[in-house]
Amino acid sequence: MQLTQVLRHSFQPEGLTLAEAYFLMNQRDAQAIAEIRVAADQMRSELVGDTVTYVVNRNINFTNICNQHCSFCAFRRDEGEDGAYWLDFEQVLAKTQAGIALGATEICMQGGLNPAAKIGGSSLTYYLKLVRTMKDHFPHLHIHAFSPQEVDFVATEDGISLEQVLEELQAAGVGSLPGTAAEVLYEPVRRRLCPEKLDTQGWVNVVQTAHRMGLPTTSTLLSGHIENLAQRVIHLGILKAIQQSAWAAGVTGFTEFILLPYVGEQAPPSLRHRVGRDQPVLADALLTMAVARLFLGRWVVNHQPSWVKLTLAGAREALDWGCNDLGGTLMEEHITSMAGAQGGTCLDVQDLMQAIIQAGRTPQQRTTLYQSVALTIS
Ligand code: SF4
Repeated sequence: MQLTQVLRHSFQPEGLTLAEAYFLMNQRDAQAIAEIRVAADQMRSELVGDTVTYVVNRNINFTNICNQHCSFCAFRRDEGEDGAYWLDFEQVLAKTQAGIALGATEICMQGGLNPAAKIGGSSLTYYLKLVRTMKDHFPHLHIHAFSPQEVDFVATEDGISLEQVLEELQAAGVGSLPGTAAEVLYEPVRRRLCPEKLDTQGWVNVVQTAHRMGLPTTSTLLSGHIENLAQRVIHLGILKAIQQSAWAAGVTGFTEFILLPYVGEQAPPSLRHRVGRDQPVLADALLTMAVARLFLGRWVVNHQPSWVKLTLAGAREALDWGCNDLGGTLMEEHITSMAGAQGGTCLDVQDLMQAIIQAGRTPQQRTTLYQSVALTIS
């Protein structure tokens, strides 16, 4: 394959093949990598222009008590273990109110899989109450909540269908889902990373069911651990196929792609030792984001680096490698920070705007679903 031809092909309507994406992902020559960066930056410019968006949001991780044991997770605790917590509804409301006071348009809510989180024996009733606790007080707030794994957990706990869980969550006020728990959509890797999690097809089923119901999701890839480059590309291929089928059905599907490089510093030692480093390799993340931009092409136009995992400086650099969104203010990030991430747990709007301006681009506050929000910061 010729690099120039492959890069040219990424701009054609049919886009890159898996083999071409793999070819790009494998480049190690500095000049070749520089050309991939330029092409990704050009595609970003053609698809979404020079604006870099961000969302003012607050994370609420309502519990870290979890009955699973993912090998990368430093967040989970057993019930009664040191550091275990479970917010009550008043605490959830107080955190929501605090987020609103700081201008949040979105609450991003995810938690551990806690079998005790039930009302009247029903897991769904508990999750619905979480949503209503926020929506009853703030009807216009966008609730971006519950990973495909959590949706599957509720359905399994209650012995009901995914459709019922998603329909009732949507009716209660959930507006979109985080596309987390995808990790790497390649079964042998997945079985080692998160053996108790739903499998690849299970993840796809939840996401496609949500999409069909008009619930958009984000899409993610957990990179930089035991997966190889071919498996990253296979994962991206699954995401592209899901988006193509969403568009064929006339629904939004994925709002964005987010790369989540593995952070091992405080993560369980078994995987950390196998990976052999504590923090992400920025160069690896940047090339992966550029290839993701070129491969996902017009199907997923918004690309977001994780400032929590890469630091704000790293995320700012990713804006030159095909990214056009800096994500959220978060206000209270737990999950990755507990793994030892160095980006911090919150950023204010001024931090995000400054990074965007330093990158020579135009900041724009957005909603969760990428509508512009009038700037209110002086
Ligand atoms: S990643 Fe999620 S499901 Fe896995 S152990 Fe951590 S909290 Fe539990």
